[in-house]
Amino acid sequence: MQFTELGLAEPLLRAVHEQGYDTPTPIQVQAIPAVLKGGDLLAGAQTGTGKTAGFVLPMLQRLSEGKPVKDARGRPAIRALILTPTRELAAQVEESVRNYGKYLPLTSMVMFGGVGMQPQIDRLRKGVDILVATPGRLLDHHGQRTLDLSHVEIFVLDEADRMLDMGFIHDIKKVLAVVPPKKQSLLFSATFSDEIKTLADRLLNEPALIEVARRNQTAETIAQKVHPVGREKKKELLAHLIKQGDWDQVLVFTRMKHGCNRLAEYLNDHGISAMAIHGNKSQGARTKALAEFKTGDLQVLVATDIAARGIDIDQLPHVVNFELPNVPEDYVHRIGRTGRAGATGEAISLVCVDEDIFLRDIEKLIKRSIPREVVPGFEPPVGEKAEPIVLGRMTIGIGGTRRNAGGGGGGGGGRGGRPGGGGGGRPGGGGGGGPRRDGGRPAPRSSSSGGGGNGGPRR
Ligand code: AMP
Repeated sequence: MQFTELGLAEPLLRAVHEQGYDTPTPIQVQAIPAVLKGGDLLAGAQTGTGKTAGFVLPMLQRLSEGKPVKDARGRPAIRALILTPTRELAAQVEESVRNYGKYLPLTSMVMFGGVGMQPQIDRLRKGVDILVATPGRLLDHHGQRTLDLSHVEIFVLDEADRMLDMGFIHDIKKVLAVVPPKKQSLLFSATFSDEIKTLADRLLNEPALIEVARRNQTAETIAQKVHPVGREKKKELLAHLIKQGDWDQVLVFTRMKHGCNRLAEYLNDHGISAMAIHGNKSQGARTKALAEFKTGDLQVLVATDIAARGIDIDQLPHVVNFELPNVPEDYVHRIGRTGRAGATGEAISLVCVDEDIFLRDIEKLIKRSIPREVVPGFEPPVGEKAEPIVLGRMTIGIGGTRRNAGGGGGGGGGRGGRPGGGGGGRPGGGGGGGPRRDGGRPAPRSSSSGGGGNGGPRR
C-alpha cells in the first residue's frame, strides 16, 4: 500500500513525500479513508503508530475541499479543533498540521497555558482555520470571549485516555457544550477504560472503529532488558552504560520531578550532556531541551511520565527506565518511545530490590518476562533489603503491599472519580488489587484555573 492509493489530494501527497514517507502505517491505512468519508471515528492507537498523520491528512483534505468559512468580521473561522493533553503534544500536532498542510491555503495555531494570553489573542484576531489546544487554556479563552468555536466542523480528541488520567473530563465536557452538535468527531486513545467508552458514546455517532497494535502490548521490535542493581549504584550504572555503549540519544525516565533534576545534574557532572524535562520547567526550557535533544546536541533527556507524553522523536534508539513506573501501563507508554514506526530500539530498566513489585506488575500486564542481565561491577549487594517507595500520599511497601501513607481511607490520591481498583478498568490492567497504584498522581486540576492551566497537573 502506498500513500497515493489512499485518496489524498496532490498537495498533501507532495508534503508527505517531503517528510520522507511513502508507505502509510497501519493506522493511516485505516483512518485516512474513514475520515475522508466524513464519519466519526474511534481509534485505538498509541503514540508512535503514525496516528497524527492518520487524522491530520484527511482533516486537511476535507477542510480544503469545503468552502472557506469566515466569521462575522470576515476572518477565517475555526473549522477544526484538536484537543491534546499536554503542551508538547499540542505543539507537535500543530507542527504536523503545518508540515502536511504546507501546500494548502489553511492556517493553524497552537494554544496552551503557561505562556501569555495576549499573543494568542492577537493571533486569534487574524483568523485561524485549525486550532490545536490543551483544554484549560482553550476554556480560558472561551470564557474571555476571545475565541469562537461555533464554526467547528471537525473535532479531534487526541490521547483521550491521558486527558482523563490528567483530570480533564470536566473541561472536555465544557468544550463539548460549546462546539456545534453537528460535526465530525474523532477520538484517539491508547487504552479503553469504561470512562473512555462513556465519553465515546456521548461524543461519537456510529463511529468507524479502528484498533492497531493491541493495547498493553509492547512492540516486537523493542529489545527489553532489566539490569538488576543496588539502589545506590543506579546513577553510576546509567553513566557507565551511556559511556560504554556510546549512546547518543537517550530518553531516561524517573518517577518524580526532584529525582529527574538530580539525575540530570549527576550526568552533567560526569561529562554527559543532560537536561531534565518536567511540569515545573518553564515552557521555554522544555521547548529548548526538546529541540536540542531532537537535533542531537543534547545526549540525554531525563523526563517524568507526563512531561514525556507526546514527545515525538523518530526512531529513538534508547529508552531507560531509571526508575520503574508505579503504574504498569506507563511502562508500555515509556518504551513505546523507542522502536517507533518499525525501527528497532532498546528499552533498559535499572531495577533495585524496592521495585520488584512494579516489575512483577509490568510483566503481568505485558504477559512476558523481561530478561535480566547483571552488569559486571554493578551486582546488587547481597542481602540488600527492600525499602518502601513513597509516592505522593501512597507508600508502596515491602513484599508486594501497597498502602496509603497519609491514611484517610479511600478519599486520598488517585485519579478523579475513577471507581474501583488498579488498572483503571482496562482489561488485563494489572493485578494486585488493593488501593489505587497511582498515588503519585496529583488530584485533577480545578476546571477553570488560569495561568499554567493547559497541562493541568503534572508529575
Ligand atoms: P505519531 O504516532 O503520530 O506520534 O507518529 C510517530 C512517528 O512516526 C512520527 O515521528 C512521524 O513522523 C512518523 N511517521 C508518521 N507516518 C509515518 C509513515 N507513514 N512512515 C514512517 N514514519 C511515519
